[in-house]
Amino acid sequence: MGESRVRSERSFANSLNRRQLLRRGGIAGGAIALAGLAGHGSARATTEPDEATGTPEALTPIVSRSGADLSGQELNLYSSRHYDTDQEFYDDFTARSGVKINLIEADADQLIERIKSEGDAGPADVLLTVDAGRLWRAQDAGIFQPIKSDVLEQRVPSALRDPDGNWFGFSRRARVFAYAKDRVDPATLSTYEDLADPKWQGKILVRSSSNVYNQSLVGALIEALGLDGTQKWAEGLVANFARDPQGGDIDQITAVAAGEGDIAITNHYYYLRLLNSTDDAQRKAAEATALFFPNQGEGQRGTHVNISGGGVVRTAPHPDAAIAFLEYMVSDEAQELFGKGNYEYPVVEGIPLEASVQALGSFIADPIDVRVFGENNELALLLMLRAGWN
Ligand code: FE
Repeated sequence: MGESRVRSERSFANSLNRRQLLRRGGIAGGAIALAGLAGHGSARATTEPDEATGTPEALTPIVSRSGADLSGQELNLYSSRHYDTDQEFYDDFTARSGVKINLIEADADQLIERIKSEGDAGPADVLLTVDAGRLWRAQDAGIFQPIKSDVLEQRVPSALRDPDGNWFGFSRRARVFAYAKDRVDPATLSTYEDLADPKWQGKILVRSSSNVYNQSLVGALIEALGLDGTQKWAEGLVANFARDPQGGDIDQITAVAAGEGDIAITNHYYYLRLLNSTDDAQRKAAEATALFFPNQGEGQRGTHVNISGGGVVRTAPHPDAAIAFLEYMVSDEAQELFGKGNYEYPVVEGIPLEASVQALGSFIADPIDVRVFGENNELALLLMLRAGWN
């Protein structure tokens, strides 16, 4: 209850900001607003002090591509991003654009089914989800429409979006190892491939093959090792499992801390979430482990990196607001929020990293086109099941 009051106060403050903005005539400068979004490392209006009052300057306004005011419009946003901090994006977008967001949250496959069943008169404007494998699935189900946007094309690297503009990556996440500091010498760690070596028997913790993060990782391995090579790898990996797959990525890290195994495969941000937790037990679990970025050696392809992202629904009733929202998600401000809110990496170059993300150090990411994860998804899952990866 207290929280909803805080939220409505925040929304009120945001609407004040917007009114201030309109009074100043800031909204008339549609081209300027978009240039602000498009510019790499552009000046950030939010941090400039206001000359008259000494308070922070009003937010950079968001208008439609034609320069039209979007305020009063609504945006029906379907999201399967399961991170509480995402509300900050929505509040910030509403404050800048005047667009009211109606948020529907559910599992990605449920949202895809729902959009399909709602048909041509459906209310969905934007689908946000995690993992390129799922974005590809949504595209395959025919629920996106291709978007042509200079802002999105300039800011999102081409390997992290659909070439026809059906979906775009907004943040990056590395799938890495969390190893037991007291039992594993990091000098003995090297590649994903090496986790299938019998020397790790009984040591490996990873979640189920039903999880799309693992399916995408295996999809990338198929590209690198071929089907037979990946099948052999999966069999070796399963032979090294410390236990039957159970739980999510965080459960794998805490299991390493509890001594159930020595190496967990996890997305990097789950480790940072534990490390930055206010809960002592969670923080201790992270402190007992350290992250290792695999496949960094000479001539190796780099660490597996996936995206979260989204696209405009084919039948979107508010396409202008939908495109403005996608463009907002690659603005300097939103790109920084991905780090502050969920310890993710931005997709746009030159965005400052959140401090604990920065502290992980730099690494080489596999430059593979993330569409491959979707294309190989079915094969990956079959192969994992055949290897006995439950
Ligand atoms: Fe996640």
